[in-house]
Amino acid sequence: MEKCIFCKIASHEIGSNVVFEDEKLVAFKDINPAAPVHIVIIPKAHITGVLALREKDKELIGDIILAARKIAGEFGIAEDGFRIVTNSGPNAGQSVAHLHFHLLGGRTLGWPPG
Ligand code: 5GP
Ligand code: ZN
Repeated sequence: MEKCIFCKIASHEIGSNVVFEDEKLVAFKDINPAAPVHIVIIPKAHITGVLALREKDKELIGDIILAARKIAGEFGIAEDGFRIVTNSGPNAGQSVAHLHFHLLGGRTLGWPPG
């Protein structure tokens, strides 16, 4: 089966600007940034999204949030503030069917989102 684009980024078949990697996760700069800092954090495992998460993935989600916090610190946006967001399904605009969390910061972020 053809790998999805984020699986190809995770396996380095497609180049991206990786800012963090460990055995379970990869984080890279978004190709179309919505903020001065816009990092995408993904599990290396192909999970299609929040709806596909299972009990066994609970630790993985915790790892993603902690990685996001660490990256926020490294990019100097921890104190000013940042947002971690994941989109699920068409109404939220999920465009890649591989679970991913956006880390956004470096400017004031509007709320509620559009
Ligand atoms: P979604 O819209 O699904 O919540 O987020 C997908 C994100 O992945 C988008 O912000 C989009 O810009 C980013 N993206 C899609 N394809 C690529 C790619 O090939 N490389 C990088 N670095 N980002 C990508
Ligand atoms: Zn995938």
